[in-house]
Parts: sequence; structure tokens; C-alpha cells
Amino acid sequence: MRIGINLIKGEIQTNEPKDLIVGIDLGTTNSLVGYIHPKYGDTRIVQDEAGDNKLVPSIVHFEPDGSVTVGTQARAQLVSDPTRTIYSVKRLMGKSYKDLIDHKDYFGYQIIDNDKDELVKIRVDDRFFTPIELSAMILRQLKQRAEKALNREVLKAVITVPAYFNDSQRQATRDAGKLAGLEVLRIVNEPTAASLAYGIGLQPDEVKTVAVYDLGGGTFDVSILHIENGVFEVLATNGDTFLGGDDFDRLIINQWTTDNKLPLKRFTSDAYKSIQQAMRLNAEEAKIHLSQHPNYISSTEQGQFNLSRQQFEEMIQPLVAKTIGCCKAALEDAKLTTANIDEVVMVGGSTRIPYVKQSVASFFGKAVHDNLNPDEVVALGAAIQADILAGNQKDMLLLDVTPLSVGVETIGELMDVIVPRNSRIPIRAARQYTTQVDGQANMKIAVYQGERDLVKNNRKLGEFDLKGIPSMPAGLPKVEIAFIINADGIMQVRAKELRSGVEQSITVQPQYGLTEEEMGQMLLESIQNAAADMQVRSLQEAINEGSQLLATAQRFISQQTAYLSPTEIADTQTYMNTLNEVLTSQNKDLIHQHIEALNEFTRPFAERVMDKAVAQAMKGKQV
Ligand code: AMP
Repeated sequence: MRIGINLIKGEIQTNEPKDLIVGIDLGTTNSLVGYIHPKYGDTRIVQDEAGDNKLVPSIVHFEPDGSVTVGTQARAQLVSDPTRTIYSVKRLMGKSYKDLIDHKDYFGYQIIDNDKDELVKIRVDDRFFTPIELSAMILRQLKQRAEKALNREVLKAVITVPAYFNDSQRQATRDAGKLAGLEVLRIVNEPTAASLAYGIGLQPDEVKTVAVYDLGGGTFDVSILHIENGVFEVLATNGDTFLGGDDFDRLIINQWTTDNKLPLKRFTSDAYKSIQQAMRLNAEEAKIHLSQHPNYISSTEQGQFNLSRQQFEEMIQPLVAKTIGCCKAALEDAKLTTANIDEVVMVGGSTRIPYVKQSVASFFGKAVHDNLNPDEVVALGAAIQADILAGNQKDMLLLDVTPLSVGVETIGELMDVIVPRNSRIPIRAARQYTTQVDGQANMKIAVYQGERDLVKNNRKLGEFDLKGIPSMPAGLPKVEIAFIINADGIMQVRAKELRSGVEQSITVQPQYGLTEEEMGQMLLESIQNAAADMQVRSLQEAINEGSQLLATAQRFISQQTAYLSPTEIADTQTYMNTLNEVLTSQNKDLIHQHIEALNEFTRPFAERVMDKAVAQAMKGKQV
């Protein structure tokens, strides 16, 4: 560590980064907060004060007097005070009552249903809470925990969400962070964080396809990621939001109930609840024990609760097979096979079960990553992401949306936007273009940033030539221009002629050198000039269309002379001349009018030529 002296303040200063950004795994069942130790540089998960628990149960309990507890203390109230104990809030994020109808029995507390399309609220006594507020309570607890452990204020965080979360669920998570007093620098996909925890995707030139298998207590999901140049792209996700270790516990309970012929129905409801709860704890204990040992034996008041690993594996086999089915479906969606998967990462407490590990490893045909604690992997990865953000890349503006549109110049100096402003990054977007001239071997690709219709009013970021396009008639080459922007806003532009595979690329830093004011100014100008820009664009588009039609008509006349009379050729030429003249008229309606006229006039000829060609082809067939 370097130490300096601040001569103005007369204080000793260390080079500790000013920002300590934590990584938060805001889970359905448990949440964790991780960070990279400022001094030792290792990744750590914050523990509770006693130093024996890293998981904070994602549970909020309201006392009758309105005071709130979060975490382990709240979980203790689940059975005794179910209507005031809120769990699984993550399942409600960004959801309306209509979204939840099928699963409403799952929740032991009251969800408001008077407006089925509105975002849900939860009722506790006479108070109403949004899932955002409840999540904020959990986040506040994590923030406090981190502050105590680190002995400093924590104001910034990265929060993870499932890859399948949509925009409103992501926004809700962001809002919860804000409400908890955290600046949420980035929302990161859980599978991305899990990969980062294993160091996958940290090398700038790494290209990998990764499967992340996440089996927790109540949910299962699998994600297929493609990692290239530090961009993590989610190719596919699949899963079951109601499948997990809790289901395994239930299967064990059913087995013991049958084994001991327990007359559960005869108990009063309170006694039933407490027996169920005790059996649930026992079943979970058995399951965890069997991850290490071949047999579990226990005598209880209710009877003999025994289970062998083999029995357990037979019991859960159909559910594990279901998760493998989801992996298959995800691969199909990503148009990949298991052979394309380079790494398999295991996440979630239930992946500790040896049978689960074996099943996943045998399906993908390779060893899985399971060295790290599967409960902590996501938070560890979030901490790494946070550290990258806190890090030393001072010349980069860190963004998670593109502040201005980026695109390429097309004919007539028009801006063709490929990634619109406010797109979430990382992102990959592509569009296909073609050539204007027969045999065209080079294509200039000029990249611009800004909102105006004409490139001259935008900011040029770079330019390159795609060279060596094999000779083809105009319109035949398929040039794909792809923009790949990584999480730090670094953009790579790639042009590839798809028929021949010829390829070129450049890397640009779109935000570099632009201050927020300049960006604001660019946006303002685009709004002020919107009407004028639109006119310029539509005029230019009419000119482009006219020029293209002239080229096609010219080709038609020279190639099909045999099928046309001299008058027809001469008249077509006249229509063409007029169109050519009005192209410079600055009058888009006039241009359209003459495009239409030339089209109308030549249509019967084109049809005639087509008929002849068809007849010719038919003749050829009959021979
Ligand atoms: P998570 O939601 O990722 O925290 O996973 C919690 C689930 O993992 C619960 O169903 C736990 O019972 C289960 N679990 C935790 N440890 C083990 C273990 N050693 N063997 C089997 N399941 C476990």
C-alpha cells in the first residue's frame, strides 16, 4: 500500500480507493453482500457480527407495533406469525396480481388483488408495501452489515438479478437499491457474476460459451452465455421458478409420513403446523447429511426417520431429470449442442447434492466448476464486478446504457442507427447492408454517434474499409455490420461479408472525450432540429430510391433490348431523363411522382420479360 501526505490538509493519506463498491446477491431465499478487501485484495463475503453466518434470509417481519426485523430473526417468525412475515419478495418484483394468480397459494401473506393489472402490493395489518420497499429493507440490512464489517460508509453497489428478469423487474431492483440509500452502479445477471467468480470472462481476448446451472431452494434456472471481448451475452435461459431443494425436502417428508403411517390429518391445525415444521427441518438435515454420507438415521417423537442416499437419489431422480430437460431446451434455443459448451458453472445450495453434480456433468460431458461455495458464487462475482467498476479505468466513462445512438453512414450521408440511445449494455446489434455497384470490392464503413438524421451533424467515431469483397452483382453481397459494446462502453464494430467470410473490425470508445453537457447539448439539438431533419431525411431517401430505380431501369434496357421495341426503349429513356432531372429539385413529392410514373410505364415490359423467361424455362424443362 502506498502512503502519501496531503500538504493542504496536513493529513496522511493512503491510496485506498475512495469508492468502496459492494456486490449484492439479492436472492429469493437468502441474500449476501461481498466486496474485495481494499487492503488484501481478496474477495470476501460479509459475515454477521457473531462471525458465523454469511447468509441473510430474504425475509422481513413486522411486529404488531410496526417495527421491522430482517433476516434470521424474521425467519424465526415464519411459522408463528405467517401473515406478518414476508418471504420470497423477489418473486413479486415488477409483477402484477394477474402474473401471480396461478401461484397465489404459495404466499402465506396477503397480496392485494383489487387492480389485477397494477403492480402488486402486500398488506400487513393496515399498512401496504410494494415489493420494492420490502426489498429495500433487505438491502438496507445488507448495507448496514457491510458498513459494520468494513467500518466505513457504503453508498454504492452492484446488484445481481436472474438473466431472465425483464426491464421492469430490473428497474424495480434498481429502485429498491436507491430506496435503501445505495447508488446502484450496475444490475448484473446472476450467471454472469457466477462465471466471473470462477475467473471466466476476465481475460480481454477470451471467447467462451458457458452453461450456468443454478438450483437453489425454490427455483431452478439454467443460462447459456457467450463471452467475447468481455461482453457477456445471454444466448438462452430456461428453468422452473417453482423447483428446488424445498421440493426434495417435501419428498422426504412424504416418504417418512408413509413409512411411519403418520395420521397427520387427525392433528389440530396448530399441532399439524408444528409437526410439519419439525419434519421439514429434519428432512433438510437428512438431505444435507446425505450429501456427505451414505445413510441418515434419526429417532423422533413421530417415529423412525431413516433414509439412504440411494433411496434419496431414486426419489429426486424425476426432478433432476426435469432440470436436465431444461438444459436441453436452453441449448436448443441457443442453437448449440453440449459439445459447444466450454465451461459448466454450478450455483445454488442444491448443487451440493452429489447426484445433481453427476447428472449435470454427465449431461454436458465435462467436469463442472464446483470449488467455490455454491451459495456464495453469485455474491463473489458481484464483488468482482463491483471492483472492476471501482477500479482504475479512469479514462472510461462507466455506463450501463448508451447515452447517445451509434450507427453507420448510408447513402446520401444519412445516419443509420444500429444501437439506439438508452440501450442497455453490454449489447450486440447487427444489420445487413449490400453493395451499390456491380463488382464493388470495397465498402467504406463510417461510424457515428448522435441523434441527427444527417451524419454531418453527428460525431464521427471512426471509419474503416471492408476490402476484398468478391466480385458480385450489386445487391448480392451480404455485409453484416455488427456493433458490440461491452460493459465499459468500449465498442467494437465488425463488418463481415457473409457469403465469402471477408471480415474487418475496429474498436472505438464512444463516450471518450464527451462530457455530460456535450451529450446533453447533442440531444437538445436533435430535438430542436427534429422537424427539419425529418424533411432532409425523407428528401434524401426519395433521391436514393430514384437513383436506384434509374440504375435498375438502365440495366433492364441494356439487358432486355431483344424483348423491347425501339419506341418502348425511347419512351422509357424519356421517363428516365425526367426523373433524373427532378432528382435535384429538392422536392420529394415531385421525385416520388416521377418514380411512380417510371415504375408504371415499365411494369408491363417487366411482366412481359418475366413471362418470356418463364416460358423459356418451361420449354427447357419439356425437352
Ligand atoms: P440457495 O437457495 O441457493 O441458498 O439453496 C438453498 C437450498 O440448498 C436449500 O434447499 C438447502 O436445503 C439446500 N442445501 C444446502 N446445503 C446442501 C447440501 N449440503 N446438500 C443438499 N442440499 C443443500
